Amino acid sequence: MTNKICACCGQPFEPRPQVPDQAYCSSPNCQRARKRQWQRAKLQSDSDYRINQRAAQQAWSQRNQEYWRDYRDARPEYAQRNREQQRARDQSGNTGLAKMDVCDLPSGLYRITRHPAFPLENSDSWIVEITPVCVTCPCKMDVSREDLIDTKTIAP
Ligand SMILES: [Zn+2]
Repeated sequence: MTNKICACCGQPFEPRPQVPDQAYCSSPNCQRARKRQWQRAKLQSDSDYRINQRAAQQAWSQRNQEYWRDYRDARPEYAQRNREQQRARDQSGNTGLAKMDVCDLPSGLYRITRHPAFPLENSDSWIVEITPVCVTCPCKMDVSREDLIDTKTIAP
């Protein structure tokens, strides 16, 4: 069995016998990269797929909006606190955080750090800063252990 070089992380790996053309190694990061790559190619070549994806995203977005509207309706104190926090942000002139709602984050590796401007937030929510580590090829980045959140709790 000849080793191949992973198209994502550049490490040699042994392709599985069932997949002689395997271009990505079996590490989860590289498999994610492979799926993204596949999806990108698919989106470009297949207009039905493109339309389906967009419809699925819109449906999700719709459900998501309804979910949060119901959530807020069911918990007036949550909406109230949100409004107060928003007002505080508006007054501090810090609109960057609110803009995150509309900005389209590509999938990739991000570092979430508690925002230093809000150290006293001790309730059930944190104000965090999301910094892209590497958007295109996560496995090329040398991510040290302490940057990783307990992935068991966020993995699907
Ligand atoms: Zn790899």
